[in-house]
Amino acid sequence: MRFLIDSMAGKLARYMRLLGFDTIYSRKGIREEDVRKSKEEGRIILTRNRRLEGENIFILPTEKTEEQIIWVMKKFNLKGLIKPFSRCMECNGELRKMKKDDVKGKVPFYVYLTQEAFSQCSGCGKLYWMGTHGKKLKKKIEKIIREL
Ligand SMILES: [Zn+2]
Repeated sequence: MRFLIDSMAGKLARYMRLLGFDTIYSRKGIREEDVRKSKEEGRIILTRNRRLEGENIFILPTEKTEEQIIWVMKKFNLKGLIKPFSRCMECNGELRKMKKDDVKGKVPFYVYLTQEAFSQCSGCGKLYWMGTHGKKLKKKIEKIIREL
């Protein structure tokens, strides 16, 4: 299942990617062409703009990011499709696993020494590893899954 999320819910877009869902983020709000293109691509539009109407448009019932995530997961029955850390939070690109040797010199030396698992975004090239930030995100994901 794929999504387009408008600028009023940017944080939700990042979380959707973190959970592995193909999610595009519109900075300029949702325009006619976005609605048309989303239909072609089979994307569900999530927005806070109550004036928008369409068969693939759904209005988020809350402004709170964590409540939005829970709502979306339940609404579209996504629990079984969650694939944490499989998609880039910045650009929506898919992450591919990297060999430790291949990231030598591309990540801080301390990170190279202390981490074993690395992945790279196929879109923007960003390298990911499970540092302190990743552990925090992992806890958040676990909390979300518990509530589903
Ligand atoms: Zn990326």
